[in-house]
Amino acid sequence: MAVNLLDFDLDGLTAFCATLGEKPFRAVQLFRWVHQRGVADFDAMSDLAKSLRGKLAGAAVVRSLPLLSEHVSADGTIKWLFDVGQGNAVETVYIPEADRGTLCVSSQAGCAVGCRFCSTGHQGFSRNLSTGEIIAQLWHAEHRLRGTGGRPAGERVIDNVVMMGMGEPLQNYGALVPALRTMLDDHGYGLSRRRVTVSTSGVVPMIDRLRDDCPVALAVSLHAPDDTLRDNLVPLNRKYPIAELLDACQRYLDRAPRDFITFEYCMLDGVNDTPEHAQALVQLLKARIHCKLNLIPFNPFPASGLKRSPRERVLAFARVLQDAGLVTTVRKTRGDDIDAACGQLAGEVQDRTQVQERMARLRLLPAVGGREVIAIVPVATGAPS
Ligand code: SAH
Ligand code: SF4
Repeated sequence: MAVNLLDFDLDGLTAFCATLGEKPFRAVQLFRWVHQRGVADFDAMSDLAKSLRGKLAGAAVVRSLPLLSEHVSADGTIKWLFDVGQGNAVETVYIPEADRGTLCVSSQAGCAVGCRFCSTGHQGFSRNLSTGEIIAQLWHAEHRLRGTGGRPAGERVIDNVVMMGMGEPLQNYGALVPALRTMLDDHGYGLSRRRVTVSTSGVVPMIDRLRDDCPVALAVSLHAPDDTLRDNLVPLNRKYPIAELLDACQRYLDRAPRDFITFEYCMLDGVNDTPEHAQALVQLLKARIHCKLNLIPFNPFPASGLKRSPRERVLAFARVLQDAGLVTTVRKTRGDDIDAACGQLAGEVQDRTQVQERMARLRLLPAVGGREVIAIVPVATGAPS
């Protein structure tokens, strides 16, 4: 089968071109056509020698993901649902803001971590996405949106990528790193390291590897100030408890593009949101690590049995942290009218690991129900215009 060029970072593409007898500068040209201009048709790559175009036509393709639906929220947020085969689908969300465009990218079909408050986690795990499937989400979004909404034709739309869609990116490390490199490459998307964020529930050894291989901004999903509560909310904590996680965060800061780690904290009514929890968080973090706190109002879904903390409690919690000198923001919820908000991304996942059954056995969940089916609006598929 023809290789998919979206699977390669520039080094990979250079090696592939070498197998065709082509010099490295040809790989640069090709990489720019694909990622900077969004071109999938080799015949349209006018400055590539005809002989190379001929070789590529026989050996390679630029294959994005088949699009199942596109939903546009009242606030301008866009959610795409992509088919990744065998009954699985993943979601990608574009979030426009006054000064920038952010893309929230998925790394897996489902997720094996199984956090209690996360819709993806409740669905179980099917499989890792390939590098090509990760980068296809950015390729599609960037080139689909370029020139729309009154933007000048060549102007970049997405300048911020957050690996906060479906899946645990650090449990798909091998595919993640070439995708990150393509995002950062000046011949690719040219994104700043500070504007590419990997969000993790805390896979400690992989935080160390990311620091060595491809340091980008790091967000860590903390959600609790102590191990007992975190064990219950984020099952991975039983393997990598908070002290080990914070040590890894500290090591990461040596090479991080920003001088702080962002801790995400999902506010769950009556579970982790009292002033005592806030004080415990201050004790845990204050003297230990340079960080920022991002409080996320919980986005409910029926099977979780959990509720969003009332706004006043979120603000009171934030005040305790701020008064202690911890920089704290409360995340604005975007796109919730189209189920595009944090933790609502469920796609369609064929659970191959019986996560749902295991959770139910552990009585972590009051009930395991299906999620309401996403309305699928057919749209044109194929290369974005
Ligand atoms: N697996 C990674 C990245 C994807 S989840 C991680 O856990 O960090 C991205 C963010 O959404 C995480 O901070 C996660 O805790 C948060 N999240 C998950 N479910 C949520 C929900 N129902 N409401 C609000 N935030 C949620
Ligand atoms: Fe997986 Fe992140 Fe959801 Fe936890 S919050 S289940 S790690 S996607």
